[in-house]
Amino acid sequence: MREDPGAPKINYLRLSVTDRCNLRCRYCTYWQDWRKLPSKEILSYEELLRLAAIAGEIGISKVRITGGEPLVRRGLAEFLGKLHQVSGITKVCLTTNGVLLSELAPALYDTGLRHVNVSLDTLQRERYRQITGRDNFAEVLSGLERAASLGFHPLKINCVVLKGINDDEILNLALLARDHPYQVRFIELMPTVSQEWWQRHFLPLPEVRQRLTGLGPLLPATREATAGPARNFRLPGFQGELGFITPMSGHHCRTCNRLRLTADGKLRPCLMQACELDLKKPLRLDLGDGLISYLFKEALELKARRACLPITPSYHPGRSMVSIGG
Ligand code: SAM
Repeated sequence: MREDPGAPKINYLRLSVTDRCNLRCRYCTYWQDWRKLPSKEILSYEELLRLAAIAGEIGISKVRITGGEPLVRRGLAEFLGKLHQVSGITKVCLTTNGVLLSELAPALYDTGLRHVNVSLDTLQRERYRQITGRDNFAEVLSGLERAASLGFHPLKINCVVLKGINDDEILNLALLARDHPYQVRFIELMPTVSQEWWQRHFLPLPEVRQRLTGLGPLLPATREATAGPARNFRLPGFQGELGFITPMSGHHCRTCNRLRLTADGKLRPCLMQACELDLKKPLRLDLGDGLISYLFKEALELKARRACLPITPSYHPGRSMVSIGG
């Protein structure tokens, strides 16, 4: 298969710093054989920095820290401070569930971090508990407020739309972007859950957009060079923006610009394909940066060929989302 000349440059790495999480979101932690990695399998911060430096050399300029829940890993702020210094990496972002954000936001801000995504699927406390398995709704809201008051920008809210669970809140969630300078992003549920659960709760985003027509015209927002597959829109009278991420109803592979590195050092060219290149082994056997750089380039090559298949309901990534990094 030939490379696609119109496809975006692959310059974005999602780096999972842990597979541990303080929530148990139904759609994220599902997998028959999901179990936590033994601690020694998780890459140290030194190892992650070395991989980030190699990634920076081969053209990765944007790194998003993810997990598991990255804020549960001790020493994250210090690590972020060092990551900001890595040559070639010009943009560092973080995705969090927000539970510990209020407490850690000042230290994170001091590292130079500004771009934070917070996952929040509901504005109702009891529903939040049902979706996440934990009663931390209030902490997430105060985390968002603290982050906004400190000046984190953009602050994005990731909201997985779940038919029959939170789809009656689509309008209220969208209105967060009217009342705050947040970018509220609706995400289609991916089949990293049982077939039955996915069938029951999947809602295609065109239907979500339909339900938002009363808010006014969706005006396309400008896209950055490192932007992912989200389609973002401004609305008259809104401080923030709305975004739509459609891995199911809109085949993303052509616009996907990201690689993923799992907490145990496996490089994945595609979220939904089980194909992984092991970077931990050459790293720990000290086989040299040249080999690791070669493996990164292999992943880029696989990705550039856009050899991915459309995600179908029967597709599975071989791991739960919490252990891939979302
Ligand atoms: N713990 C952090 C958080 O909650 O944002 C980062 C890791 S989490 C795996 C990253 C993102 O993946 C979250 O926004 C989550 O909602 C999303 N996600 C997990 N499973 C998903 C699924 N089956 N379909 C769509 N999005 C999913």
